[in-house]
Amino acid sequence: MDLTHAQAALKKYFGYESFRPLQSDIIQTVYNKHDALVLMPTGGGKSICFQIPAVTLDGVAVVVSPLIALMKDQVEGLNANGIHAAFINSSLTGEQIRDVENDLLAGYVKLLYVSPEKLVSQGFQPLLKRLNISLFAIDEAHCISAWGHDFRPEYTQLKFLKEQYPGIPVIALTATADKLTRKDIVTQLGLDDPAIFIASFDRPNISLHVRSGQRRFEQIVDFLKQHSRQSGIIYCLSRKSCESLADKLNTKGFRAAYYHAEVPPAMRSKVQEDFINDRIPIICATIAFGMGIDKSNVRFVIHYNLPRNLEGYYQEIGRSGRDGLPADAMLFFSYADVTSYREMFEQGEASAEQKELKIAKLNRMYQYAEAPVCRRKTVLNYFGENYDHNCGNCDVCQNPPRQFDGTVSVQKALSAIIRTEEKVGMNLLIDILRGSQRREIFENNFQQIKTYGAGKEYTFEDWLFLISQMLHTGLIEIAYDDHSRLKVTEEGKKILYEGKKVNLALPQPKAKPEERTPRAQEKSKTQVMREELFERLQMLRRTVAQQQGVPPYLIFSDATLVEMAEKRPLTDADMLQVSGVGERKLQLYGDAFIEAIRKFVLEKTGEGSRVTGSTQLVTWDLYKKGHLVEEIAEMRGVSTLTVISHLATMYERGENLDIRQWVSPEECDIIQGALPLFEEPYQMKAIHEHFNERYNYDKIRFAIADMRRGR
Ligand code: ADP
Ligand code: ZN
Repeated sequence: MDLTHAQAALKKYFGYESFRPLQSDIIQTVYNKHDALVLMPTGGGKSICFQIPAVTLDGVAVVVSPLIALMKDQVEGLNANGIHAAFINSSLTGEQIRDVENDLLAGYVKLLYVSPEKLVSQGFQPLLKRLNISLFAIDEAHCISAWGHDFRPEYTQLKFLKEQYPGIPVIALTATADKLTRKDIVTQLGLDDPAIFIASFDRPNISLHVRSGQRRFEQIVDFLKQHSRQSGIIYCLSRKSCESLADKLNTKGFRAAYYHAEVPPAMRSKVQEDFINDRIPIICATIAFGMGIDKSNVRFVIHYNLPRNLEGYYQEIGRSGRDGLPADAMLFFSYADVTSYREMFEQGEASAEQKELKIAKLNRMYQYAEAPVCRRKTVLNYFGENYDHNCGNCDVCQNPPRQFDGTVSVQKALSAIIRTEEKVGMNLLIDILRGSQRREIFENNFQQIKTYGAGKEYTFEDWLFLISQMLHTGLIEIAYDDHSRLKVTEEGKKILYEGKKVNLALPQPKAKPEERTPRAQEKSKTQVMREELFERLQMLRRTVAQQQGVPPYLIFSDATLVEMAEKRPLTDADMLQVSGVGERKLQLYGDAFIEAIRKFVLEKTGEGSRVTGSTQLVTWDLYKKGHLVEEIAEMRGVSTLTVISHLATMYERGENLDIRQWVSPEECDIIQGALPLFEEPYQMKAIHEHFNERYNYDKIRFAIADMRRGR
């Protein structure tokens, strides 16, 4: 087997033009019957790496996957592309399992998805022995590692695959990159000198934003207004906040549902289904949500609270933009979150060592949110990738901080802390600096201290920003054991008493959201038209999905619809050029989508817009309605030859038309026989003269069309 087969299968089944970096190398490795370990971020295209070998090689590929929902999704997706795939797990009845077994033994199935517990069970072994297995794929392979976050004990028994089926290649895939897990996967699966592929974990289409948690609800409402009709997830720390946030959003007129571990299972799966099927766009959820969801058009992920570590954060935001289109990740953070995590960790069962690790990771998370450094650079470096430039697609890059001499501001804050005898927390400190009328201030006589109202030049948020930098650079610390009061460190005292200078990142004036997004800019006419068509195609997709009882993205991904709206394919051949349209999908949905695009184009032409390819369509439409060539010429104010030429073009593009009414097969043959004497683009006049004017222009035009259609 070689890569030309792989390439052809990619086009035929998935409608994609070319492999992404690494995919073809990985596929070649499997063809060579060599084991492989694949590390790629979510949405990186791992599945193709075993699905293409599976469809091109003899026999069946056995895919281990830990999540039942994901299995079903993948199998449905493959079936929709005309690939015979099946799954066996605890959700099937005995009868359903027997059906799958029969298909397997008959050799129909190209990919079999199984849960790890099924695969390792004694009862499954006889069947496995009888199959002609092309490869084993271990998806979510990090589940094998007790170090990881999704440890699944059954995974540790998978070593038997290599022991009992030594000649069959095993490909292990994961989106979790750390070294420890990686080593665990190789040893525990007993992989034989595996080729290791590590793709970049960068997800350049996800725009990374961090905002202060002040007034986050209003900020979210603003954001959602600008992203209407888009799907997204809002992660909250507590179950209660999931519910209350969803409620509040609903009263604001958004359609939101909530999801957390205490929601009854039936309702949970309904929420998930509604989200997948684009019925409910916004889900407020704890991190329990999203694990088994393969939805490719999640357009945003918002963290209402700080995630507990960067691994979790990156995995969660990775659920957006899997189709490669622009997506937004927005993180809100506040000290309150850090404090509640700390409390949670302290109270937890874990050993002192593990607690320490958790806190260290939390601190890294916090630093990420805080540091005025390119977010992507920070996070990719954390994952050990050497990313040394600024990404241009994060809030820091778009609004780079300027440094200023912050000594005086810092001194004001430090002095206020000292003068209140280190008994205030962050919020109260800021209120003192800003001269607030808050009750606690007067109860404690803080209005009398010298620095009361000395910091009015900054907003509350600006002060938060400055004070967090002070914290971050070790000028102050938070006494978690003393009501989170602020204390001045030795380093801080040097600034207060010894006049040591300090540079800080300047708080950014809060730009109005509209100013930053290109959406608010004047849209060009083509852009408007593109969006309108995209929306129509989306609607059509929903209708088709409902009729077939599958999620919309299984019909076509958003990326595919975007491309359709841009290229406006009017024929099967054009449609096949769209990425994501393979043969099967063309067959199933091509007509409906082409029809919708044609209708759109015709309407737009009627409204006076110029749309490429549309004039032929208008002629074609009239012809289909029963008008004669002469009538059409009259109606459209063009010559009959132009009408003929339009019809010929439509015929070239594959439309059905009986051209014998203009040119007989014999005449066609004769004219076509002479065409090699001429060069494209053909000069009709020259051909006409070549035959001493024996054949009129109509005949010549259709003979040419017939030749073009045939090639
Ligand atoms: P992962 O399993 O790594 O999270 P997927 O395999 O689901 O990612 O792929 C993510 C998306 O990218 C899917 O929509 C998939 O069809 C698409 N994709 C994968 N490989 C290619 C390719 N070579 N060209 C275009 N799209 C691709
Ligand atoms: Zn950046």
